[in-house]
Amino acid sequence: MTILDNHPRAESLRIREKIIEGMHKKIVAEAGLIAHGRGEAYDYLLGEKTPNYAQKQQEVAVAMLLTAKKPIISVNGNIAALCPKEIVQLSEQTGALLEINLFYRSEERIKAITSVLENAGTKTILGVEPEYYETIEELSHLRRIVDLRGIYSADLVLVPLEDGDRTMALRRAGKKVITIDLNPLSRTSLWSNVSIVNNVIRAVPEMIEESLRLKEKDTDELKELINDFDNYKSLQETLNFMSSRLKELSEGKLEDPTKNL
Ligand code: ATP
Repeated sequence: MTILDNHPRAESLRIREKIIEGMHKKIVAEAGLIAHGRGEAYDYLLGEKTPNYAQKQQEVAVAMLLTAKKPIISVNGNIAALCPKEIVQLSEQTGALLEINLFYRSEERIKAITSVLENAGTKTILGVEPEYYETIEELSHLRRIVDLRGIYSADLVLVPLEDGDRTMALRRAGKKVITIDLNPLSRTSLWSNVSIVNNVIRAVPEMIEESLRLKEKDTDELKELINDFDNYKSLQETLNFMSSRLKELSEGKLEDPTKNL
């Protein structure tokens, strides 16, 4: 589909096209389309920009990735379709290896996602070699299968765009969890150590920038940033931002596009 640059929703439509194309290439599961739509709705509430609270969440998340013993980035179909190059760069900058872990797991999808990540420049992909498969009992269904060298032995897992069961299971398995989810009310957000309530399209590139800046700091400074962070308070701040924005719009900031008709 041709999307004209002057279309007011051009950027959002381009992102949507990536997801649809990803589904045709078997990278994205059908349910991934619905998850994306849910995310889009919340992004409207943010004004499709990164708010200050999210910058803080991203900063703390990167500090955690840089100081963890064994950080892993879990990759699913949506993230592979939306920002493959960026997730590979974030992995390189933070030393967190990439592991493919799918809710709707099939060899066809694993192959498709592997090839996207390889084309994006990664040399190591975990979660694809059966000899290293292990199971995490707390995880249900096919997602139980994780890589012995990856999620199974990780102390920290970044799970962008995930469902709540997974975050809860990883926490119960004793892992620290960072999530990126536009819905601050999801179980995913509520159960994370650090919930980044932002669109992955913006969050991941911004986290790469943040990692360049934070790499200059010493470990004690990074640990202080982490210790000062409270996820519950951060989610309250997130909800405050969303509700204030709606209030401002309802009290007069909303432009009436039909007023000059
Ligand atoms: P819960 O976490 O409460 O179990 P769920 O499992 O029903 O929720 P899903 O719809 O499976 O949630 O998960 C997808 C989540 O990803 C949604 O909450 C949605 O807001 C979020 N999401 C979708 N697209 C994006 C995006 N581009 N950036 C960030 N978050 C996104």
